[in-house]
Amino acid sequence: MARIKDIISPFTAWKNVVKEPVTIKEPLKREAAPRYRGFHKNDVDTCIGCGTCESICQNAAIDMVPVEGIETKNGDSGLRPRIDYGRCCWCALCVDVCTTGSLSMSNHFKWVDSDPDVFRFIPGVDKKEWDDEPNGYKKPGPNYELYSKERVHMPELKPEERDKSFIEIVRGYSREQAIKEADRCVECGICVATCPAHMGIPEYIKAIRNDDLNEGLRILYDTNPLPEICGRICTHKCETVCSVGHQGDPLSIRWLKRYIADQQPAENYKQILETENISKNGKRVAIIGAGPAGLSAAHYLALMGYECTIFEKLPLPGGMMRYGIPEYRLPYDALDKDIDYIKSLGVEIRCNTTVGKDITLEELHNQYDAVFTGTGLHLGRSTRIPGTDHPHVYQAVDLLRDVTMGKEIPAAQSIVVIGGGNVAMDITRTLARIQNQRYGKVNIITTSLESENEMPADREEVVEAREEGATIIPGWGPVKIEIENNKIKGLHVVKCVSVFDENRRFNPKFDETQTDFFAGEMVVESIGQGMDLSYLPESIKDNLKLDSRGRIVVNDYFQSSVEWLFVGGDIIQGPDVIHGIANGHKAAIGIDRFLGGKK
Ligand SMILES: Cc1cc2nc3c(=O)[nH]c(=O)nc-3n(C[C@H](O)[C@H](O)[C@H](O)COP(=O)(O)OP(=O)(O)OC[C@H]3O[C@@H](n4cnc5c(N)ncnc54)[C@H](O)[C@@H]3O)c2cc1C
Ligand code: SF4
Ligand code: SF4
Repeated sequence: MARIKDIISPFTAWKNVVKEPVTIKEPLKREAAPRYRGFHKNDVDTCIGCGTCESICQNAAIDMVPVEGIETKNGDSGLRPRIDYGRCCWCALCVDVCTTGSLSMSNHFKWVDSDPDVFRFIPGVDKKEWDDEPNGYKKPGPNYELYSKERVHMPELKPEERDKSFIEIVRGYSREQAIKEADRCVECGICVATCPAHMGIPEYIKAIRNDDLNEGLRILYDTNPLPEICGRICTHKCETVCSVGHQGDPLSIRWLKRYIADQQPAENYKQILETENISKNGKRVAIIGAGPAGLSAAHYLALMGYECTIFEKLPLPGGMMRYGIPEYRLPYDALDKDIDYIKSLGVEIRCNTTVGKDITLEELHNQYDAVFTGTGLHLGRSTRIPGTDHPHVYQAVDLLRDVTMGKEIPAAQSIVVIGGGNVAMDITRTLARIQNQRYGKVNIITTSLESENEMPADREEVVEAREEGATIIPGWGPVKIEIENNKIKGLHVVKCVSVFDENRRFNPKFDETQTDFFAGEMVVESIGQGMDLSYLPESIKDNLKLDSRGRIVVNDYFQSSVEWLFVGGDIIQGPDVIHGIANGHKAAIGIDRFLGGKK
């Protein structure tokens, strides 16, 4: 039944006839609120193409695309985000997550065009009228983050707990700490290209988040058979480009790798890595040098079925990892865990066997199908200033080798070290520990040509050396060792004003008016190492192509111009462990191709 209200209500609408209309006459002239989320802007020079914005967009409105004029380089994929306004819902998650803060939104909301394709554009590259608009939406202030900017603190021994012993300083993450740190990863993968071994970094970090450490170990071993070692001492180039590091602390990638490797005892490796039954292919490869390059080549060749024998000059395998890097950074049990697993795959390591003396390279060529050599840089370099021929002037690498061999090494009450790199810091800190043990105090001065900011040593090494009592005085060039009555008195130095010329070539300049004298009874030189290729016979040397610096020329598979001879590690590239590993892996693939494996 019709009610009286239904009959009257159409007439009540007439009361609006005299009111102002609410529709806007010219909607395109209307201004937006200052923080309105309009079309995107991107500072393409700051953007690193990490693609985190693309990953977070729930509408798949972002594609990462190449841009002319922007090159792929370390820490920059060369790609830039392209937005599709047919999909975008203006949620601004991409802006909130942007690892560099380069992406923002204008408050421009009017865009009229008859061509639908133009609504897909690359902000910052395809120039738009809103590019210079100050208003819009930016990632809010410092306490608004989708991921934590702070690295989970790594427990470490305090200076007073470590300065007299060689106990490992870094203690390692607990499960909770590792998962918390792994949670900060945005999985962009910008680190992968920078890692010389191209490790599956986001994948193994994800395995930590999922608490699936067996999977983590499998991913590590895909590209790196020395994870306990690299988890401790890798030069971690990946961390220098980590996208999270642009607005916070870079992820602790190296310690996360160590966390995975630390969790499983070596006895379980074969089962986890499914390497219990490897079928042999009947071919044999000789490897010279049991450093990271040789060990890595042996590991991957053994997995392919090759019988591998490593010939090693020193009493134990490991190369510079054992005979250079001190135990407070890399304890021998961690080193042995990685090496023992490689041996368990059937790799034979013949120690105390020098190629060129105990067996010749020609003999290896006759007895094996191919040879890989990775003999490293073991000859110390001298400054050759007056006084360096005194018996109390030493080479850092010789002393470090003697420490590993358990020899009593000379450590006077006062010492001067020349050098500003990591090897110089290692010998400084080693000698400081020995001085502390012998004399109860540290008296060591380490001086470098480079200024404090230019010193090639890692910052943490310099800081920790000072914490342990060493005096680091950068910016001085050694001139002469003062000797009186056949005893060393100290080192004369002159101010170094610049180390490199305008072409970044080593060309130190000095201010002769500024001099100093560093007192010490013993001097240690740590200014780099050279290679000893005397084991190469003339007949082979004649056919080897060398570059202008005397290094053996190799192809992409580290194969030399003598086709059965593959070369890797410090004598070709580096110098660091991860380059050796990457070279050894690639050479193993090359040897397999050469011997008729994969084509
Ligand atoms: C003090 C010090 C600290 C370092 N710290 C780090 C670090 O923290 N992180 C990092 O990544 N890198 C570090 N490095 C560099 C790193 O150790 C080397 O880059 C790496 O070990 C090189 O690997 P390789 O396989 O080429 O050679 P090496 O490790 O040098 O191994 C070569 C092996 O070949 C053997 N050999 C040589 N000639 C013969 C022969 N004729 N017959 C048989 N065997 C032979 C040697 O005895 C040696 O065992 C450090 C180096 C030093 C010296
Ligand atoms: S604003 Fe939201 S929907 Fe639009 S591109 Fe960014 S994340 Fe995707
Ligand atoms: S998240 Fe930021 S830095 Fe990374 S690609 Fe997107 S806009 Fe560039």
